[in-house]
Amino acid sequence: MKRRQFIKSAAVLGAGSLALAACGKEEEKKAKAPAVMKGKRELKMVTTWPKNFPGLGTGAQRLADSITAMTEGRLTVKLYAAGELVPPFESFDAVSSGTADMYHSAEYYWQGKSKAFNFFTAVPFGFTANEIDAWLNYGGGQELWDELAAGFNIKSFAAGNTGVQMGGWFNKEINTPEDYKGLKIRMPGLGGEVLRRIGAAAVTLPGGEIFPSLQSGAIDATEWVGPWNDLAFGFYKVTKFYYWPGFHEPGSTLSCGINKGVWDGLSSEDKAIVQHACAAENNRMFSEFNAKNGDALDTLINKHGVQLRKFSDEIMTTIGNASGEVMAEVGATDPLTTKIYDSYRGFRTKALGWTELSETGYTSARSLDFKY
Ligand code: CA
Repeated sequence: MKRRQFIKSAAVLGAGSLALAACGKEEEKKAKAPAVMKGKRELKMVTTWPKNFPGLGTGAQRLADSITAMTEGRLTVKLYAAGELVPPFESFDAVSSGTADMYHSAEYYWQGKSKAFNFFTAVPFGFTANEIDAWLNYGGGQELWDELAAGFNIKSFAAGNTGVQMGGWFNKEINTPEDYKGLKIRMPGLGGEVLRRIGAAAVTLPGGEIFPSLQSGAIDATEWVGPWNDLAFGFYKVTKFYYWPGFHEPGSTLSCGINKGVWDGLSSEDKAIVQHACAAENNRMFSEFNAKNGDALDTLINKHGVQLRKFSDEIMTTIGNASGEVMAEVGATDPLTTKIYDSYRGFRTKALGWTELSETGYTSARSLDFKY
């Protein structure tokens, strides 16, 4: 049915009865056209990732494709890479205002709007991927996220996770907390703030500027994600000291934010599809990072001669104390942030105990020297 005819008929019959009438006519001509009958809608998804960027960009595309496939095209999600529709860090405002319908990104990029957004990606010495999912799904985290995001006309879901990130690449060995004094390190967000407290000169650089800065000596060190993504950027060509673990992003959640008007207008079926597509991608991306990091780490060590180094307990304790200080300050920013911080911290205390017995206990035992 042509659009002009549709509009004309709709004016006479009203949209509801028209849909039925149109279905009847279409079915006479062509048995299979459910998407046309129910009406298709294109949703613009903006992202903060370069096109097809491994893990993050490809995950966003997978999410867009899943929603399109599961709704049989009722919701056709068209993905725009960073800068294609709006500059990457304007994704939030674009979705909030309705210029775009949804974004795939990381909530800590919006900390200029509210410091509380950090809790929904990762915070220094915060939750692992398993723990943040537990908090979001069963610890009241999603409800708090809804409350925070609704203030900006957005509804958000977890839609990806990088897992524990690496500590980063350093042009010298880091043996004591003093070695951070004056160190020019690329580390964005709250992690960077923590390192400033112990004397480092932490800077924020977008992904594409990190390698040249490391190469020219403009920075002495950098973090990015983990072996898979770090190998792609080629940091091993400049420095060989690769430190673990990353205290700053122990399981970064990626997110799908949807304009609240768009979300509220979806049918219950489409809401369920979007919600479950996000949940599926949340899990899938995490498994992809874990699968690819192992191979990439092997390549870095055995092909490129990268030397792994573990941060000493003294360094981690010093950074831990600075992290506690920074988090307490963040938690005191405003009443809603305090509410979220209190929930996060309460859940963290319980999670620490259980993770120690379960994941940590088991993986330590598995690392013992025995034949297998
Ligand atoms: Ca990172």
